[in-house]
Amino acid sequence: MATDLRSVRSYFKRLLAERSEEEIAQTLVPSREAISPHVPRGDAPARISPEAVERRWQLLEAETSAKHLLLDDMTREQMPAYSRNIENFIGTVKVPIGLAGPLRVRGLYAQGDYYAPLATTEAALVASYTRGAQAITRAGGCTAAVMWEGVTRAPVFAFDSIVDVGRFLLWAGEHSETFREVAASTTRHGVLLRTCFTVEGNHVYLIFEYSTGDAAGQNMVTIATDAVCRFILDQTPVQPTYWFVEANMSGDKKASHLSFQNVRGRKVTAEVTLTPEIIQGHLKSSAGRMLDLYRVSSIGGVMSGNIGIQGHYANGMAALYIACGQDAACVAESAVGVTRFEPAGDGGLYASVTLPNVIVGTVGGGATLPSQNACLEILGLSGQGHAAAFAEVCAALVLAGELSISAALSSDHFTRAHQTLARGPSEAERNTPPENRT
Ligand code: NAP
Repeated sequence: MATDLRSVRSYFKRLLAERSEEEIAQTLVPSREAISPHVPRGDAPARISPEAVERRWQLLEAETSAKHLLLDDMTREQMPAYSRNIENFIGTVKVPIGLAGPLRVRGLYAQGDYYAPLATTEAALVASYTRGAQAITRAGGCTAAVMWEGVTRAPVFAFDSIVDVGRFLLWAGEHSETFREVAASTTRHGVLLRTCFTVEGNHVYLIFEYSTGDAAGQNMVTIATDAVCRFILDQTPVQPTYWFVEANMSGDKKASHLSFQNVRGRKVTAEVTLTPEIIQGHLKSSAGRMLDLYRVSSIGGVMSGNIGIQGHYANGMAALYIACGQDAACVAESAVGVTRFEPAGDGGLYASVTLPNVIVGTVGGGATLPSQNACLEILGLSGQGHAAAFAEVCAALVLAGELSISAALSSDHFTRAHQTLARGPSEAERNTPPENRT
């Protein structure tokens, strides 16, 4: 986190041009002024009652226009559907959705031509994924395969001594089957697959890995692991001095080397081979240029300390996750992996992506909310039995994005596409006389 002194100096100079040192110091001290009112919670379980929502709006000054936009008729009508997904509810935000596709996937679970709903405010994103998807589809589709699955929760137990750690592990090793039974008592679909451990001094981190059916599974594994931990505390002959249900080794909501090397959610891989005709005709580039770019980008990524090698997995994943009711924060862990480009035949290109941390669900979480579920329905992947196919579609979409961005950068279209699609007057502005434009 080093910063060069000259930059800091010019930053301070700019700050001090606007305010004196004393004024700045004054703004930074904690304030003992009267605290603004709490956000009204409403009575459980109906915390989303119209009265509670109204009381929250009364708190806000921006009432009229903001309320009109966030609490529209449809939102009012669907309010009860959100009761398990949000606290202090005041409305919904509208994110535009574009369709990317057709994206042909020949997967173990996903089969067909998909139109992926992408929720984003970023111009050029849907256009780029569409171009990549169409290139894949022209090539006959991409192969995709879920390779492995598992979601972890990682509690820690602190003991008095390393000797106690050894005695605890001896006991735990004899009870791993019981751990599975205790976990199974909390869920119909979650299965404790394996329990690993790592020791650091007199601390033991247990890593419980589950399959979670069609759910992304973070709540499921937390509840199951909590039950196992309580069984441990109740039964172990060696009591820990303290413990926590999670000690940051699960990789939840962050990219980690451990998850990268193993799995978090589903490990998925997808591949396609493009002919020179598709690369030139559709992607407007050449295999040679794309391979040159791939080589320098890989080295650039290594030099800057990336986990894995990839261009922009987060773009498509965030847009798909938001549209389909996935936990958007999980993009932090999901958007890692390895993209590989190789020459194929005479002027063709082999491309693959491997993503070890695709954590998605087609039931539970936000997947069942009205508009989010509608997006899963567009994919034909809503509800039971579809999570593995959804994970394969994620990988296929990411592959489309890697191809398209590489084609754009290697053919000098990248800047131009963004300039054309993101700048200039919007449709609404074009219909507004120049003097009235903001
Ligand atoms: P969930 O909605 O809490 O649980 C899934 C529910 O669906 C369970 O009740 C499960 O029942 C049921 N279910 C029905 N059919 C199923 C099927 N075919 N496969 C799997 N489950 C089925 O969701 P979750 O996936 O466990 O958790 C995801 C949510 O957790 C996300 O919203 C995420 O933001 C949040 N989250 C939580 C934590 C945490 O530590 N608690 C951390 C990060 C994120 P059974 O259990 O009986 O099978």
